[in-house]
Amino acid sequence: MTKIVRLDPLNPDLNVIKEVADIVRNGGLCAFPTETVYGLGADAFNPKAITKVYEVKGRPKDNPLILHIDSLKMFNELTSDVPEIAYMIASKLWPGPITLILKKSNLVPNEVTANLPTVAIRCPAHPIALKLISSLGRPVAAPSANISGKPSPTKAEHVVRDLMGLVDVIIDGGDTFFGIESTIIDLTVNPPVLLRPGPITPEDITRILGIEVIVPPVARGYEEAKVALSPGVKYRHYSPNTPLILIELDNYEDLVKLANIVLNKALELRIKGYNVAVVASSETLNHYRSKGFPVINLGSRNNLFEVAHNLFKALREVDELGVDIALVEGFNDNVGLGIAIMNRLRKAASERLCY
Ligand code: AMP
Ligand code: MG
Repeated sequence: MTKIVRLDPLNPDLNVIKEVADIVRNGGLCAFPTETVYGLGADAFNPKAITKVYEVKGRPKDNPLILHIDSLKMFNELTSDVPEIAYMIASKLWPGPITLILKKSNLVPNEVTANLPTVAIRCPAHPIALKLISSLGRPVAAPSANISGKPSPTKAEHVVRDLMGLVDVIIDGGDTFFGIESTIIDLTVNPPVLLRPGPITPEDITRILGIEVIVPPVARGYEEAKVALSPGVKYRHYSPNTPLILIELDNYEDLVKLANIVLNKALELRIKGYNVAVVASSETLNHYRSKGFPVINLGSRNNLFEVAHNLFKALREVDELGVDIALVEGFNDNVGLGIAIMNRLRKAASERLCY
């Protein structure tokens, strides 16, 4: 039985938080909102509960979890050999959407880190998440609250669809704020390496902390390229069930060019007999709608926070349209949140077409 409780995201009822913390303390699983996406939380020090998290999500055993903390006290308990830069980042950017990879302490169970000598730690800014951790008095291990491979949940309804009946409680705290998962940086190496782009961009880190961050190809979402539309062998990550074709340009200045390329591809597929939908920015969407294609609006190219916020919801909506194929417009991955958006789109896409 899964209990659903609704909480005011900015001013949550502490009695309800306490009830949920008790469930987690007794080895239960709880889905809760964070400022990034919804998390599926368990007591970080309870290996049985951690194992349940992997089972419920169908998560590969070698994909470690992030520990969510509320204080430097917890941080110090979980880590060892911490470089000074970690404290600088923590003091400037926590609570917030950035996760640090550090050497783990002996207190961290191997189930959490998939036997790695390192641990991923974040202090979330969402009042519900923070109060839940404080009420429990222990770190909360939490991956995103979706079935592994599906788009991350940005609304309680997404969690309900994926995990109803599989977890003990789902806290409905409304839409998450950023809508994409945290930035992850590896601080066990110098200079630090970006492992996953998120709401805090590499430029933000450089501007705020005066340090360079290495951005490897994997952070842009490369190295997981898949073969198009090959039934049965589709590798899944953030993916809708519907095949998704990502249209990439080397330059997004000319939106008329982008819209014409996407429209021509849509028309070509329609002639072959496919029902096609287009996931597009608000600037170009009428180009496709006017030719009768169903469209999903990601928001404006001039506001990448809006696009990031809408991204996973849009990927879930693709399946609701009941089309054969969806095309999605690419974004410039060299500016701001573009890299975080393109990381998800490249992983979600079954095929990438570059122009
Ligand atoms: P999720 O919470 O589902 O967004 O997934 C957590 C992410 O953190 C995954 O991409 C993990 O690979 C990453 N992660 C967790 N722990 C570590 C670690 N010790 N080293 C590197 N990456 C990690
Ligand atoms: Mg995830």
